Amino acid sequence: MSINDYEGIVVIGAGPAGSALAYLAKQYLNTNMIVYEALRRPGLKACGWGLLRSVEDYIGPIPREAVLNNIKGFRIYVDDRLIIDYGSKRTIAYMVDRPLLMEKLLEHSNAKVLLGHRISVREAVGIHQNYLPVIATGFQWRPRNRRLILGIEYRVKNAHIDEPGLMEVWTWSGIVGYLWVFPFNSREAHIGIGGTLPYAELKRLLDEFIRSDKRFENTRIVDRLSGYVTVSGLDKKFLDPSIPVIGEAMGAVLPLTGEGMRPSMISAWSLVKALKHGDWRIYTRILEKTSLTKSIELQYRILRHVENRRARLNVDKLRSLVRDCEWLVYELAFGKMNTWTVLRALPCGLKKALIIASLIRRYSG
Ligand SMILES: Cc1cc2nc3c(=O)[nH]c(=O)nc-3n(C[C@H](O)[C@H](O)[C@H](O)COP(=O)(O)OP(=O)(O)OC[C@H]3O[C@@H](n4cnc5c(N)ncnc54)[C@H](O)[C@@H]3O)c2cc1C
Repeated sequence: MSINDYEGIVVIGAGPAGSALAYLAKQYLNTNMIVYEALRRPGLKACGWGLLRSVEDYIGPIPREAVLNNIKGFRIYVDDRLIIDYGSKRTIAYMVDRPLLMEKLLEHSNAKVLLGHRISVREAVGIHQNYLPVIATGFQWRPRNRRLILGIEYRVKNAHIDEPGLMEVWTWSGIVGYLWVFPFNSREAHIGIGGTLPYAELKRLLDEFIRSDKRFENTRIVDRLSGYVTVSGLDKKFLDPSIPVIGEAMGAVLPLTGEGMRPSMISAWSLVKALKHGDWRIYTRILEKTSLTKSIELQYRILRHVENRRARLNVDKLRSLVRDCEWLVYELAFGKMNTWTVLRALPCGLKKALIIASLIRRYSG
């Protein structure tokens, strides 16, 4: 169905998926746009606010006003030991002011935005009869069909972070999930935790971490939020034959890392491309051509493997596997695992390249 068959588009939800759709529609489609958002400000839900820079390949430069910090590397700790220390000269991710970013995207669209308006699909279709409805409601769409895990997010002030250009990830044996420190600057950060544990257990780990880390000795927690994230991958059960479903609503979240903002925006981009092409129904095929679909599948398989086998991490083995090859972890987590990755791993040693090749074969089917 071509966009010319409709008077416009009505989007339900103004998270990264809905806002990016409105923003991109202005650039590529000449159509009316209406956005409904249940919250009083878009983008207010719990989120670490980390956004990989590669999203700019799809939506163009991120509005500078919304960028809080440039991230140039990350550190991963397992059982309190530093396993991966990856640094780059270039910015690999941004810390963004998420509500402000959503506002800027909407501001640069031509959408009529209705904040504080919760609306059902049936209502939207009834009110806007000649409009194409788009579902961008995040995990709240068909929640019973999806696997959700919990995340808790604190915003802290008065910290002492000596390297605010680095993101940190901490995990411990026996836990499926991780804790993150995402700095805005040397004094302020998001510290959060997500995983398969119950809320009380996650909160205990998070509080204990903040209490025992000297950098957060005099820290003030100024905001506490919690929420769910979908970890069941892209699933046909979330789709609808008569209405496009984008973002986390369609399962566009990387199940291991819980990264959902960039995937949601890429799914919005796929829909705009499909509409431009003349048929919205091909948007999932367009999405499949991005590396995102494969990455989500790969991470989902790894997650299931870890859970089913209750795989325990062998910290020393892990450390020796990634030594001098930290960039590989970046590729694995953020998604460009292919033959080229194996070739690039060769300088790290043939054995490592072979292990990586077998991992790719095993998990990408
Ligand atoms: C604790 C936590 C930390 C996270 N950290 C990160 C991170 O650092 N980086 C990252 O990339 N991802 C992160 N994620 C995941 C990410 O936040 C989501 O995957 C992403 O926001 C999904 O975008 P979306 O637009 O599809 O859905 P959402 O962001 O969920 O947006 C959907 C919007 O629709 C609105 N809505 C729902 N129903 C209706 C209705 N009926 N009518 C009107 N409006 C409605 C909601 O209010 C919401 O604003 C995190 C998730 C959690 C829980």
